[in-house]
Amino acid sequence: MTNQKTIIILGGGTGGLVTANELKKKTGRKTRVILIDKNPNHIYAPSFLWLMLGKRQTEKIQKPLSLLIRKGIEFINEEIIKIDTENKLVKTQNQSLRYDYLIISLGAELAPEKIPGLTQSGYNLYELKEVERLRDDLGNLSRGKVAIVVSSLPFKCPAAPYEAAFLLNEHFQERGIGDKTEINIYTPETLPLPAAGSDIGKAVAKILAKRKIGFNPEAKLNSVNPEKKELKFENGKTDNFDLLIFIPPHQGPKVITNSGLGNEASWISVDKETLKTKYDKIFAIGDVIASTIASGKPRPKAGVFAHYEAKVVAENIVRELQGLPANKKYNGNASCFLETGFGKAAFAYGNFYNTPAPAIKMKCPGRIWHWNKILFEKYWLWKWF
Ligand SMILES: Cc1cc2nc3c(=O)[nH]c(=O)nc-3n(C[C@H](O)[C@H](O)[C@H](O)COP(=O)(O)OP(=O)(O)OC[C@H]3O[C@@H](n4cnc5c(N)ncnc54)[C@H](O)[C@@H]3O)c2cc1C
Repeated sequence: MTNQKTIIILGGGTGGLVTANELKKKTGRKTRVILIDKNPNHIYAPSFLWLMLGKRQTEKIQKPLSLLIRKGIEFINEEIIKIDTENKLVKTQNQSLRYDYLIISLGAELAPEKIPGLTQSGYNLYELKEVERLRDDLGNLSRGKVAIVVSSLPFKCPAAPYEAAFLLNEHFQERGIGDKTEINIYTPETLPLPAAGSDIGKAVAKILAKRKIGFNPEAKLNSVNPEKKELKFENGKTDNFDLLIFIPPHQGPKVITNSGLGNEASWISVDKETLKTKYDKIFAIGDVIASTIASGKPRPKAGVFAHYEAKVVAENIVRELQGLPANKKYNGNASCFLETGFGKAAFAYGNFYNTPAPAIKMKCPGRIWHWNKILFEKYWLWKWF
């Protein structure tokens, strides 16, 4: 087809999946939409917490990206090696592809190796295989100390470590070992979910205290001793554990560094309303971007941002192709469910780009939010495939 534009989307996670769907639906045969991911499957990460407790099976929380072909989206299952902005090329292991538009949604890379002893000592809550291993081993724990450690900032889904603690607390109570086990959270943060403001942080800290879950703020992990089962923090403190669950350090994807597209931490700078990079017809969305809230702190990394940013980018490209002004802007609205265990969840919502501070509210834990979280999981894996 003459004049057909090629739109390449890098990453088939949250942002990439939404962008590909929205673009193909609205442009039909006017565009060739190609999505590239090294993973053959799209994985719905929020369900890792239920997977950890055997409440989900792996095959129910992922879908093959090749299914997108039935929507007219081309899928290439290869690792992206380089982005050549000068010649408008994306290079994978086996091919070079030319684009008219490029959307980068490569997420954050996990780097547990950055902390000595970490990988050997515990379970990575953010890796599917590791969560499966944790699920299989959890039954062996009948007493002792569980440490949930946020190893460094930033990390995606600021709610996840707290959700893991609440769900494990429920799990231990149900198994009748609640009084023989102790759960402690260690984090460099000053309060839970600090980007959402101190009221939300204090509310979550109150629920932690009520459940007797230890909260250790301003604890930046230095190293772990696998033999002694000992955590060492930058402030000199140490603590022991019987079971360690960790959130590893995050970094920008290597392909972004290798292509010279990132800042010093390999995150990509964008206009936070339009998601435009400094390069012509290249957009970046989701966890891979460097964006800040009014305080100057990074905006949290979470799927909800990737989702809304994807919609803005897709809409603006569609408008541009129609000869209309590309005037859609992302305003910073976001929301998130926070599982608190015992069939309940809280719901936080509001605007993260509000000035002088984010305007976020939280609905108290209730069954309705827990059921909404489940419904959203089902909707997500149905809607985009
Ligand atoms: C346990 C857990 C719970 C979570 N819960 C929530 C929640 O409740 N709400 C919420 O909003 N967010 C949640 N998140 C965060 C959310 O999953 C991420 O923020 C979101 O997926 C980011 O979307 P993205 O498109 O930027 O990146 P991703 O979804 O991470 O997608 C990036 C994709 O790029 C691919 N990729 C990377 N490098 C390459 C390469 N070189 N070549 C080819 N492919 C590559 C990856 O395979 C991946 O598929 C949770 C995360 C975890 C781990």
